[in-house]
Amino acid sequence: MTDWKVPLFDLDLGHEERERVKAVLDSKWLTMGQVTKDFEDAFGEYLGVKHAIAVTSGTAALHLANVVLGLGPGDEVVCPSLTFVATANAIRYAGATPVFGDIQSQDNLTISAGDIESKITEQTRAIAVVHYAGFPCHMDEIMKIARERNLFVVEDAAHAVGGEYVSSKLKMGSKPDDRQRTTENGEQTTVNGHTYKLGTIGDIGCFSFFGNKNMTTAEGGMVVTDRDDLAEKMRIARSHGMTSLTWDRYKGHDFSYDVIQMGFNYRIDEVRSSLGIAQLKKLDKNNRARRALWSLYKDMLDGIDGIKLPFAEFDGISSCHISPILLSESIKRDSLMEYLRGQGIQTSIHYPPVHLFSYYKKLGLSEPHLHLTEDVGRREVTLPLFPTMRAGDVEYVVKAIKGYLANQP
Ligand SMILES: *Cc1c(COP(=O)(O)O)cnc(C)c1O
Repeated sequence: MTDWKVPLFDLDLGHEERERVKAVLDSKWLTMGQVTKDFEDAFGEYLGVKHAIAVTSGTAALHLANVVLGLGPGDEVVCPSLTFVATANAIRYAGATPVFGDIQSQDNLTISAGDIESKITEQTRAIAVVHYAGFPCHMDEIMKIARERNLFVVEDAAHAVGGEYVSSKLKMGSKPDDRQRTTENGEQTTVNGHTYKLGTIGDIGCFSFFGNKNMTTAEGGMVVTDRDDLAEKMRIARSHGMTSLTWDRYKGHDFSYDVIQMGFNYRIDEVRSSLGIAQLKKLDKNNRARRALWSLYKDMLDGIDGIKLPFAEFDGISSCHISPILLSESIKRDSLMEYLRGQGIQTSIHYPPVHLFSYYKKLGLSEPHLHLTEDVGRREVTLPLFPTMRAGDVEYVVKAIKGYLANQP
């Protein structure tokens, strides 16, 4: 492995994780026990959501969501193309068809409500949104479209754990939240309206705890919902569609069980749940660190010709999962990334648009063009961002970018 001076991401793992993992091993109870229950309870409480169900990955979370919403062959789901391929693959798992919507602009890289609307047909059953990089989608508009047309909304919140959306009109009747907040710059602002944790606005929210996400269980994920019916279905579908042991007991000590719906094995284990508990405790602190570093990038990259930092404006608080920048046409992306690699700086691309992948082209899903998505797909570079990164690392990265630009022909 290359010894990066500044890697793309790094984990905050310490003795808290080690102790909890050791305790699970010592207990010899390895799967679907009290630790998983505790993890689900803690996560649900953190989000303020009624049901949180832990699963094996973010992809499993998305799949379960699509299945229990009853999506299947003949159904269309509008989703972004500027996302990780799992968002669209999970729609295919259910047998439904992803229909790709373009992003809002070169500043806001989340899916455009207007484009969602233009993609809706008689077959559309759901909208899958992705809070790209941890920045909230325009949920007021998206929920309005969904309600008017009776569509489900699945939030792929894989980037967005801990992020928030500020709404002036969503979920009327819930209590207003006019609190003082400290922004990443240390300023006091008043949030007028309602704030919602990302993942709790649509019908089902899906989280990933993959090894490079804001909190990790190595592999893992979570589905959350306020709806009892969907939660019950997801709990059963997570474990082969079997009636659960507790349910059996409740019904009167059945030694056998029934299979009452299509099911999978998406059960998480106690080792990973124990990692999740430890990681959740650090999440807010680490997200604050991410926001401060992202602000520093913003300040330091401001005014540099040819480099643009998206998300000048957004409605809420970002979990700052990644730090995307956009290069002007005159800058060769490969050559800049190669130069940064030479300086020991690891970068990445988020994302090659899903609709342009060979598989999705073969399915005939690459038309019509998504001009903004394709443009960003060509010009985006992701800079290092992780909670244990130092301000000096950001300065080093920005200096290297400036150095590259200064030597451009
Ligand atoms: C990581 C990710 C997923 C998939 O999560 P896994 O846990 O890796 O299965 C889905 N969607 C997005 C946007 C992601 O970033």
